[in-house]
Amino acid sequence: MVTLVSAIVGVVETPADLVLLMDFLNTLDQRAFRRRGVDFTGGDELPTAAALGRWLTEHDLLPASARPASADLVRAVDLRSALRAAVTPDGVPDDALRWTNTVLAAYPLHASVDPGGRIRLESAASGVTGALSRLVAIAVRADADGSWRRLRACAAPECRWVFYDDSRNGAGRWCSMSSCGNRVKTARYRARKATS
Ligand SMILES: [Zn+2]
Repeated sequence: MVTLVSAIVGVVETPADLVLLMDFLNTLDQRAFRRRGVDFTGGDELPTAAALGRWLTEHDLLPASARPASADLVRAVDLRSALRAAVTPDGVPDDALRWTNTVLAAYPLHASVDPGGRIRLESAASGVTGALSRLVAIAVRADADGSWRRLRACAAPECRWVFYDDSRNGAGRWCSMSSCGNRVKTARYRARKATS
């Protein structure tokens, strides 16, 4: 029975909005390890303003004709860092909290009611600011439905991949127990053995 429930939980699809948000957070890939013979070396998908424009267009957040400026890139990278700081498994320290909230305050959102009587939170800007505001709105909606608390950066320092924790108790710490979880535990075991 437990196995069956786990199997059902395992196949629950992550909401599309949340996948978009995770894709944005994982444009910074900090992975640096080897898994099953494959090297993960990471990189940044948003190295230039043009790359930011392409990414936003590919994800239906910005028209292809838009040309983000270098200041837009700085703001996008800041937003990414701010949101990544909020999905760490160990909470947000005070100094990071102040900076994160300063970054988030730059994104205008407004509430509206749809014909079905549901309250919606939408971006209140256009262009790149509008596109980034939509990502902030997704994060706020995700917090309201509880899914934000299931987003977290992998606790392995050489990974930090942002994943959706679909474990039953919502206490998952690694993007993959069979790789990052075991690698971290093996390293800790070896460290303890070396000191004793
Ligand atoms: Zn990981």
